Amino acid sequence: MRNAAIPAVMPNYNRLPVAFDRGRGCELWDAAGRRWLDLTAGIAVVGLGHCHPHLTAALTDQAEQLWHTSNLYRISELERLSERLVARTFAETVLLTNSGAEALEGCIKLARRHFHVRGLPQRNRIVTFEGAFHGRTMATISAAGGAKMVDGFAPLLEGFDRVPWGDHEALHQAVGPNTAAILIEPIQGEGGIREVPIPCLKGLRDLCDREGILLMFDEVQCGVGRTGTLFVHEQAGISPDVMAVAKGIGNGFPVGAVLATAHAAQGLTPGTHGSTYAGNPLAARVCNAVLDVMLAPEFLPRVQAAGERLEAGLRDLTARHPGVFAEVRGRGLMLGLKLQGDALAFNQALFEAGLLLVPAAENVLRLLPPLVISDAEIDEALTILDATARKTTP
Ligand SMILES: *Cc1c(COP(=O)(O)O)cnc(C)c1O
Repeated sequence: MRNAAIPAVMPNYNRLPVAFDRGRGCELWDAAGRRWLDLTAGIAVVGLGHCHPHLTAALTDQAEQLWHTSNLYRISELERLSERLVARTFAETVLLTNSGAEALEGCIKLARRHFHVRGLPQRNRIVTFEGAFHGRTMATISAAGGAKMVDGFAPLLEGFDRVPWGDHEALHQAVGPNTAAILIEPIQGEGGIREVPIPCLKGLRDLCDREGILLMFDEVQCGVGRTGTLFVHEQAGISPDVMAVAKGIGNGFPVGAVLATAHAAQGLTPGTHGSTYAGNPLAARVCNAVLDVMLAPEFLPRVQAAGERLEAGLRDLTARHPGVFAEVRGRGLMLGLKLQGDALAFNQALFEAGLLLVPAAENVLRLLPPLVISDAEIDEALTILDATARKTTP
């Protein structure tokens, strides 16, 4: 029943006043035909752009064959997807989920079960980092612990030891005889595009090896091609024991995945964990179609080149408008622009000028374009940023 005091769509989001009804590549249109250049990709999701023809064809073809049978039975598209991820990554086994948060839940449960079946149930704590974002379920807000995320949701889940970002001393002190795992985003997204330096990624691997604990990466936002390699950790020449993936792997179809070594996953035996939808034929078929495009040899080098062009342009803008832009952060096509003034007001001005970016913590606006962005579209975005900066009085 209509209640004037509350909108029918529960108001847990502050939405910009637009509804898009059509998208192609990096472009979105509203019902009146007004066009926006989309450098959000639905928050690092639509990596291959809106309505990529190969994905649309795969999804519609699958929709005519079979949608869902449950995990009571084998699912051939899921087996094919898992084999491909195993062939291409550190992982030896893959668990599909329906979202990023569920992938993180899977990682947390996997880590606890791992030590449980090894007869070390006291090793059940997970070290996490301030400014992290791992999703909005009870376990994942408890893991990240950000004040706005946890306010009013007590009691939180026990078992997380949070350390300040970049504080090596605190990290070493947090790891002890009850630690099961370290969980970290190689590049924090919501936290304001904060990168773990490559030597620190290697240091985390060494620390986990020395302590006999699991290294778990959350590559939900930074992974799946966004920084020019399929996953960020490949650039450090190390691999985690467990990794959460989502967002770009489904290009807008709701799906996530836990990738793990056989050793790490030894506790997740039949009956220990599950989900009705996870890995259903529609989801797995779309993920396979994403991999078809992304694993073509020319794809990731083009992401690197596009990232370099965009980053160079942002550095140039920052040099020319030091009163407006404070800093450029990030790698590949996961870039952040730290504002001197109010980032949300600047984002509103960009929106009015036809450019979509995503706000993050630390007064940063994120540029997370579809990975298929052209040079002309990069230049168009830079032109709008430049024009908006000129109109802004620092
Ligand atoms: C988006 C995100 C999640 C949560 O994914 P959902 O699909 O929204 O549940 C987890 N970790 C990171 C790093 C993310 O960016």
